[in-house]
Amino acid sequence: MRLVRLMCSGRVDLAHILRAFANGADGVFIGGCRLGECNYITHGNYHALNLTLLGKKIFEHIGFHPRRLQIAFMSGGEGNLFAAAVDDFCKTVKELGPIGQAGEIAPEQLGEALAEITRLVPYIKIEKHAKLTTRLQDTADYETHFSLEEIQRLFGEVASYCIDPAKCQACMICAKSCPAEAIAGGKNLIHVIDQDKCIKCGACLNACPSRFGAVTRIAGGPVPPPLPMEDRAISRTGNKNTSTERGMTA
Ligand code: SF4
Ligand code: SF4
Repeated sequence: MRLVRLMCSGRVDLAHILRAFANGADGVFIGGCRLGECNYITHGNYHALNLTLLGKKIFEHIGFHPRRLQIAFMSGGEGNLFAAAVDDFCKTVKELGPIGQAGEIAPEQLGEALAEITRLVPYIKIEKHAKLTTRLQDTADYETHFSLEEIQRLFGEVASYCIDPAKCQACMICAKSCPAEAIAGGKNLIHVIDQDKCIKCGACLNACPSRFGAVTRIAGGPVPPPLPMEDRAISRTGNKNTSTERGMTA
């Protein structure tokens, strides 16, 4: 068992949980302060609860046992509760056995699934922001806070972003705002998004000046192939990209 101490359970990120499983953990247990008894004003334990509920549904969606992820709340003076909760969790994990048993996804496929979900964590957090910041009061709502259908929709409708070569003015603003360094470009070069690196955060859509409007969000459809390197130089008349013949093709 490995203990990771954080100042607040609200600091636990979905990416941390995924990384633990990707690194071979058979279970992840999150211990947080009692709900409604936050020492600060952040109430991060509600966020940890929502994140755990979301993680469980995602695991159910990919065929990974949701009981491998657990959260419990106790105060700093309730070491006995902490010990009992961890003990219970260890028993659960032992019952489930190593990953791949209990009718689960095979370990080799799990690695791929976890890598894909990890790549989409920023997208997931943006899409589910409202529910992740809810303060659930009733334990009866835990199971229904996220539904399986909702998670299927979440992954079925992952949006992609691409740049219209005819509109791009090579201003480089989008590349500077991309947290994943997924946008290739440069001075007088039409910018192109590397779909393999893109984490679907949508920052480029917001960053591209509205007078250019070169970034497009595509939901549920194919993304046009990237513009070949040799066609990326911008031909201008004054300050205009006149390469309108390079319109996007699906
Ligand atoms: S959506 Fe845009 S800004 Fe976000 S990672 Fe993809 S290319 Fe970068
Ligand atoms: S911000 Fe818009 S116009 Fe500027 S480089 Fe990016 S896509 Fe092109």
